Amino acid sequence: MSTPILELNDVSVDFDGFFALTDLSISLEHGELRSIIGPNGAGKTTFLDVITGKVKPTKGSVSLRGSSIIGLSEQKISRLGVGRKFQTPRVFENLSVSRNLELAASPSKMPFSLMFEKLNNTAKDEVYRLMDYVGLAPYAKVLAGSLSHGQKQWLAISMLVAQSPDIILLDEPVAGLTDEETNKTAELIKSLAGEHTVVVIEHDMEFIRDLAAPVTVLHQGQLLTEGSLDDVKSDPKVIEVYLGQSE
Ligand code: ADP
Ligand code: MG
Repeated sequence: MSTPILELNDVSVDFDGFFALTDLSISLEHGELRSIIGPNGAGKTTFLDVITGKVKPTKGSVSLRGSSIIGLSEQKISRLGVGRKFQTPRVFENLSVSRNLELAASPSKMPFSLMFEKLNNTAKDEVYRLMDYVGLAPYAKVLAGSLSHGQKQWLAISMLVAQSPDIILLDEPVAGLTDEETNKTAELIKSLAGEHTVVVIEHDMEFIRDLAAPVTVLHQGQLLTEGSLDDVKSDPKVIEVYLGQSE
């Protein structure tokens, strides 16, 4: 078997006595698409925080391509090919769509024209394809602040792809989107898998169904179960933790 691109083993995160994650082990293969679900407070965002170096685990190991990344800075981990989109899309509202993409693509202060040229063709093609697909191409010169919420989400995803990461982490990418935008986002994400390893955290079960990816269920910082959406939805443990939840 090949080395997983990302592997967490027995990871715990203790916030002053409160365990946001407990003995969590999750492994991702290169090019895999994985959905992560779980009630509020399950530890989903903390899981991403551990991968990106924002939160240091109290115990356990986190390996990227077989090497430990524990203790590395967020910038370093990002440079190693881990990209993240936060729950609220972080775009520069007072800059144009194309300028946002330029800044995303260039970690240095090098002018975009030079930097974007240096991006590998696959990444460049992918950014153009995404922009086209989500209908953002005609908005290149428009201020990002004037885009709709859905368009900002797509811009944020396009900005991630412009960084050419091996692993793409998406925290609630369809929150606040219309049904049509949600469907489009599912197609977009599926098209990114294969080339990239993609982890999607979401509450929207219709969207999770559209992704048709293996599902990992977290609950109280622990891995409750893994499987197809139908399998996990019919699991009594999962039904129990979602009882009384509105989502
Ligand atoms: P989810 O994204 O699944 O809703 P989170 O990972 O955001 O859950 O949070 C898991 C639990 O850890 C929650 O109970 C949350 O309040 C707690 N938590 C998250 N970050 C911190 C922190 N920095 N300090 C203390 N508790 C935290
Ligand atoms: Mg969260």
